[in-house]
This record gives sequence, C-alpha cells and structure tokens, in this order.
Amino acid sequence: MVDSTFILKGDICYCQDSRTLRTIPNGYLVCEAGRSQGAFETLPDSYASLPILDYSGRLILPGLVDLHVHAPQYAFRGLGMDLELLDWLNTHTFPEEARYQDPDYAKGAYARFVSDVRQGPNTRACVFATIHEEATVLLMEFLEKSGLVAMVGKVNMDRNSSADLQEESAEASALATLHWLDRIEGRFSRVTPILTPRFIPSCTDELLDQLHAIQQKRKLPVQSHLSENQGEVEWVRELCPDVSCYGGAYDAFGLFGGKDCPTVMAHCVLCDETEIALMKARQVYVAHCPASNTNLSSGIAPVRRYLDEGIPAGLGSDVAGGTHCSIFRAMADAIKVSKLRWRLVDQSLSPLSAAEAFYLGTAGGGSFFGKVGSFAKGYECDILVVDDSRYGSFGNFSVEDRLERTIYLSEDSDIVHKFVRGMKLF
Ligand SMILES: [Zn+2]
Repeated sequence: MVDSTFILKGDICYCQDSRTLRTIPNGYLVCEAGRSQGAFETLPDSYASLPILDYSGRLILPGLVDLHVHAPQYAFRGLGMDLELLDWLNTHTFPEEARYQDPDYAKGAYARFVSDVRQGPNTRACVFATIHEEATVLLMEFLEKSGLVAMVGKVNMDRNSSADLQEESAEASALATLHWLDRIEGRFSRVTPILTPRFIPSCTDELLDQLHAIQQKRKLPVQSHLSENQGEVEWVRELCPDVSCYGGAYDAFGLFGGKDCPTVMAHCVLCDETEIALMKARQVYVAHCPASNTNLSSGIAPVRRYLDEGIPAGLGSDVAGGTHCSIFRAMADAIKVSKLRWRLVDQSLSPLSAAEAFYLGTAGGGSFFGKVGSFAKGYECDILVVDDSRYGSFGNFSVEDRLERTIYLSEDSDIVHKFVRGMKLF
C-alpha cells in the first residue's frame, strides 16, 4: 500500500458533470495511488482491506481550483479598490510588482502567499508571477514544497509599463522566458510553467510572435487577460485596429486556444459576438473573477451564456483585483453577481445555482489540469474535509444544503484536512 491509497468515510458531495451534483451521506470515497476509484453508498468488498479514514459527520468535497491569481499582488490586497483597472495597475500594481526584482522581498511575500493558500480550500491554481526570473523560481519552489499543484508564469511585458517593470525589448523578454524555462526544466513534479503575456497593452506584436514560437516548441499552455474593463478594451481597439476583436489580437499569433495551445483567459466580461464565437471555436477557458470585476468596476461576465455555449469555464480569485483567495468566496460572488446581471442587465440569462457555481470552482476549472475537480472514477484525488458544525444546525440539512452553506459561510479554518493527488497536506 502506498500513502495515497485509502478510503475516506463521510458526507460526500461532488459534480458528476456540469448539470449533476451527486451527494452520498455517510459514503465511502476510494482513493488508489492518488486517483478516485469512485464514491459509494456501501463499500464494495474488493476494497475491504484498505485503511479507512473516518470523517463521519464532516463534508468531503473536491479541492477547489483557482484559474486566475496574481501571487505578487497578495501583499497589497484590499488596496485601491476605488480605482478602475488601468489606474489601479499604474497606481498600485506595477510599483508593487517592480519590488519583486529583489529576491529577499519576493521570498517574504511569496512565503506568506503560499502558506495562506495552503491552509485554505484551493488545491490548484494558475498563477501569474512577475517579469522577474529569480522571484518566479522562488515562487515555484515554495509552491512545490507546499504540496499544492500549480501552473506558474513568468510574466512578459515589453511596452506601456513603468520603466522599472518593463523588459527591454521583445527579444529580451523572449530570451528571459527561455532562460527561465531551461532553469526549471525537470525540477518540479507539481509545479509546471505556463506562458504568460500579461495582456495585449503590455505586449508588442513582435513579442507575441516570439512567444508563439516558444509555445510551439515547448508545448506550453497560455494564460492572459481578455475583455475585462471598458477602458482596457477601448485601448486594445486603438492598439490593434486590424483585428476583429480583442481575442483576435492573441489569435493572430496562435496564442488563443485550439488543440495544441490550451489557453485560459481571465474575465471575459465584455466579449462581443465575434469574440464569443472565436472562444467557442478554440475552446478557450474562461476564468470568471466576480470579486475583481466588482472591485474594479469592470462589469459582470455572462457566465450562463458561456456554459450554454459549451465554452469551458472556471473561477478565479484574481487576487489582488479580488481580495480573498478562497474559491468558496468566488462561488458565492459568482452567484450574487449573476443575480444582479439577470435583474439589471439581461433577463434571458438566469442566475447561477449553488451547484453550478460549485461546478465552476471544482470540475469546471479543474479540467484545465486534466481529470481534476470531481470524485468520478479516474479523477485525481484532491480532497477537502470540511467541518461545518460551526455554522449551527437546528434542523435536518441535506448534504446539498450543507454545501450551499459552506459556499457562503466557510472560513479557511473550517478546512480540517486537505489532500492533493491523494497526498495528505494536513
Ligand atoms: Zn488578472
């Protein structure tokens, strides 16, 4: 028996698919070599010899997936929330990110970020670092050691930033990326690189062209931002007058999804019909970040539409546009803003249910990592054991009711045990 082979007993809840929530009160989740063999009401005889970890009375849920977070922004979260995106970037974000030039500063800030995420409900994340190689490698080392699974990107920026947060040229940015990739090759088992052009205003065509060559050669996924805020979208239109939509500016350089280029785009608040059609054709992932979109007055993404269109989607904390890392919070925020959108903007798109938000924050975003975010057979065992007794109960709540309350009420301290790929973190 290896460490990652065991049975968990408790009140199990997970999404079988985007429309089916499965609950098993007092059930058994079988994990063999880090993968689920399924969840059962009665334990099959064939597993009778495996050790049982008895968490009766606790909720057993899949680990949560943060599809979009900026690790260097954690240190100043909750600041500048009266600004819109472009002013917020120039006033707070770029000066703060420039500090990661100093590895000592990065070490302190990243240690805190990783330690806090480790204690919370997220088990996986797509993470932006900064343009700095040294600090990015430090972040990857911390994440690897934490037991979390992450894709991490050294950010590329060669225009329109401050002098201390801009790479010298497209060539220099591409070379720095290759140097970083060579340096980390084969070093980590849980943390992998992802190409990270910051967003179109920060990247020249020449840089995108060079990143495309790197993407092709190294077969890397891509993360960036798309159609987030009014001012940003107008700026992209000026910078790229010849493309059909914002996404077209990435697509022109082969950095917008498709079979060989898995891509996740944060926000997708203001996508027009052309852009939505392109996202659908290329199966570009949407990282829906409701807290950030509220804080920076960006708007409300039409997530119901994306789900109906079959565009893959998950949730992002977007710290520090968002203020909290927990994807439970993002689920509650996603439900709330979807109601406002339905009430105030468009009655044709019904609000998200708790089960749908739970899907987005688990299996929806998890699929960017493979078979992740569910307990269906074959899925990797990222597991949370949640003690929801603190919320108080004076009636008989179903497991589904308790999931909904957890989405709205949970604090990180309610996560009493956490497993990633079948390995127990605590
Ligand atoms: Zn972002």
